[in-house]
Amino acid sequence: MADQEFDAIIVGAGFSGLYMLHKLRALGFSAHAIEAGHDVGGTWYWNRYPGARCDIESVEYSYSFDKDLEADWDWSERYAAQPEILRYLQHVAERFDLRRDIEFETRVTAAHWQEDAHRWLVETDRGRSYSARFVIAATGCLSSFNRPDIPGLDSFAGEIYATGTWPHEGVDFTGKRVAVIGTGSSAIQSIPLIAKQAKQLTVFQRTPNYVVPAQNHALSDEHWRDYRAGYSGLRQNARVSQFGAALPLPMSPKPALESTQDELEEDLEKRWAYGGLPGFIGAFPDTLFETAAADLVGEFVRGKIRERVKDPVVAELLCPRDYPFASKRLCVDIDYFETYNRDNVRLVDLNATPIEAVTADGVKTSAELVEVDAIVLATGFDAMTGALTRIDIRGREGVTLKDKWAEGTKTYLGLMNRGFPNLFTITGPGSPSVMSNMPTSIEQHVDWVSQAMVDLRDRGASTIEPLAESEEVWTAHNGEIADLTVFVHANNWYLGANIPGKPRVFMPYLGGVGAYRNICDEVRESGYSGFAIDGQGRPADIDFMDHVMRLMPQSAEAA
Ligand code: NAP
Repeated sequence: MADQEFDAIIVGAGFSGLYMLHKLRALGFSAHAIEAGHDVGGTWYWNRYPGARCDIESVEYSYSFDKDLEADWDWSERYAAQPEILRYLQHVAERFDLRRDIEFETRVTAAHWQEDAHRWLVETDRGRSYSARFVIAATGCLSSFNRPDIPGLDSFAGEIYATGTWPHEGVDFTGKRVAVIGTGSSAIQSIPLIAKQAKQLTVFQRTPNYVVPAQNHALSDEHWRDYRAGYSGLRQNARVSQFGAALPLPMSPKPALESTQDELEEDLEKRWAYGGLPGFIGAFPDTLFETAAADLVGEFVRGKIRERVKDPVVAELLCPRDYPFASKRLCVDIDYFETYNRDNVRLVDLNATPIEAVTADGVKTSAELVEVDAIVLATGFDAMTGALTRIDIRGREGVTLKDKWAEGTKTYLGLMNRGFPNLFTITGPGSPSVMSNMPTSIEQHVDWVSQAMVDLRDRGASTIEPLAESEEVWTAHNGEIADLTVFVHANNWYLGANIPGKPRVFMPYLGGVGAYRNICDEVRESGYSGFAIDGQGRPADIDFMDHVMRLMPQSAEAA
């Protein structure tokens, strides 16, 4: 017997969970959100490391569902820092009175489908249980921290910090010898600030990353006047775009491979001066599809690293070479490379001298023991699936989601799983999610899910679930598009390559945010084709690839 009943249990109170709760309440559903943190914020609650900030422009990295909210909130910088984003989400919780339906400091430990009742039984680590017709996983794609399996880590006598679970009171590194392990986005944001405080900073790098400058700046009244005038157009462009954000600089009409060196450089210099990730991801129509085209941009970025880092040996170590430009998540920096010009910063190349162990005194590589007082683990996440598979989710006949995904994720539209009726995954694997500006994709998913719940209610139906065939077709389509791109030529976390033993399946959907939205809309308009409602359904007769090709850059057709 459950302690309480709801129409929906929402797991998580970050960007997704907050909007989901607001939306369901407005539609007359009883909804209860469960959140492990002691307040709202999700990613922006946990990732409090120095330098944490969004790397999509804040005017776009925000909700669009409420025009008054949009009009009332002024971002202070082009890319807001973590405290400001957290304040924004706290403001949203207050503005829409959301906290009264959120249970904080509570983890969902299990969700079991009850076939007879057509309901989920949800259990928490506080011993309370809930019965709900729907469960909505708003658990985030990058929320399950990857603690590396380095021998001796627990024997370290100093302090160990993780970027993904940073202490709320902050950390003072003044006078300390610090090691940072990892050189992904989180490390690239935090290293410049840790270096300014620490007595000595040693960065342990396994793979160098492609990094473009943020060119962050304060947002003046003039900027705001411009944004306000064009806000609705900006949002609309984002919704139909490839990556869920309006391209600040249009894509070059000519493929990189057909451009002269001068044309390439002129274009890329403009993007460099403007800064930011979308301008580079969408620079040329062929760079995401042709390795040779990506290499042209890669060489430009390597040139910039050589200009920024004074020591040529260090500069070469910081130059990525072994994978195409942008095929691992492109990073955005503020003074990252200049940090290596400081006297108190040193780079250790783990390819030449791998870490063998952590001892009580520091980090031991095959060449030396680097003695430190503190270690910062910037080692990433069990992305997209980790937050879901660590919950004991059991669908029909007791099958766990973890077992279902043991050979790789298989979903329909990234929204639902066969055998797990009425369980929705916001920005789940198989949807654009991490390949897009997250708030754009979150809003699209929340709107779709809540509409599906309304449609079920209107029909008097109790369950929705994908057909097995739909998952096969969607997963194959996902793979087919990924295989056209350079993303499959890198050991990236999109493929699960950062977690030992994780199956290699390209998880995010690369067909584009606009095409994906059109597909989801067509699925709904066609009466949820590909889904079974109360056990009845028909296969999706939708040409997914046609949707994609209508909005994709031309070079995808050639690839
Ligand atoms: P990440 O990109 O996965 O980087 C992890 C780093 O740790 C990599 O350099 C990895 O090396 C290294 N590493 C992992 N295990 C290791 C080990 N055992 N020994 C040595 N090195 C090890 O993680 P992240 O920086 O936290 O970023 C994850 C994602 O979060 C980003 O890609 C981005 O999507 C998101 N994020 C966004 C923002 C933002 O929007 N501003 C900021 C931070 C993060 P290898 O590359 O060799 O595996």
